[in-house]
Amino acid sequence: MFRCLPGLLIGIVSMQAFAAEPKWLVQEQFETFSLLADFRVDAQEIQTQLSELTSELSDVLGIRPTGEPIQIVLFESRKNYLAYLGSTVPTSRDRRAVFVRKGSLTSIYCYRSDALTADLRHEMTHALLHQHVQFLPLWMDEGLAEYFEEAPLRRPSSPRTKSVRWKAAVGWSPDLDRLERLAVAGDMDSTDYRDSWSLCSFLLNESKESRAFLCDYLKLIHEGNAPPRFSEYLTTAGPDWQVRAKTYFRKPMFQTAAKRSDLK
Ligand SMILES: [Zn+2]
Repeated sequence: MFRCLPGLLIGIVSMQAFAAEPKWLVQEQFETFSLLADFRVDAQEIQTQLSELTSELSDVLGIRPTGEPIQIVLFESRKNYLAYLGSTVPTSRDRRAVFVRKGSLTSIYCYRSDALTADLRHEMTHALLHQHVQFLPLWMDEGLAEYFEEAPLRRPSSPRTKSVRWKAAVGWSPDLDRLERLAVAGDMDSTDYRDSWSLCSFLLNESKESRAFLCDYLKLIHEGNAPPRFSEYLTTAGPDWQVRAKTYFRKPMFQTAAKRSDLK
């Protein structure tokens, strides 16, 4: 959490301003992204994870890479990461990873930690979303990145799934109105991330209709339309979505079948 910088730096980062190039021990080019690292990292494992993620985003949301370049830059330590980014991307000081879009190039910067895989999946989700749509409601951008940062088999037993079940048992459901008032990622706290993730989980998994509803909203934006606020859009789904959401969160299920056509 609190690790990304979606879109805020578009066009304002001068690559020339970065510190001197470190000595890259890994330099790889894959189909969707290139990888640089200043330490020995299992590039093939990263490629496998991100390739599976890319396939899932395509199957579930209809989002496919545009072919625009994505580069991933990994650092062995936070110290190296900050030495490279610190003065150019000030918010990197508060985050384990950032993504920066400049023109058609998306760069993901991240340093080694136990959460490296999740961080890369999170930032890659942002990167592919931002290739696909010009903008996105902040809560949806973060909610989808939080959702897809976990590999599919980990989602049902993740701590946040358990936490949401407990809260739903005493009447909780995500507060969409509050989420829609959030302006920048820096304003989001852990509750906002949890609720964003929860809403996306509900939309992606409750039913074929709920997932299609989210996909259709993304399609509207992708095609250049100005969509209504999502809360307004939801009213067209009927009056009972909040009841359905509360029911879903009491026993959240995660569709293991990725494709929309396979959903119940
Ligand atoms: Zn994020």
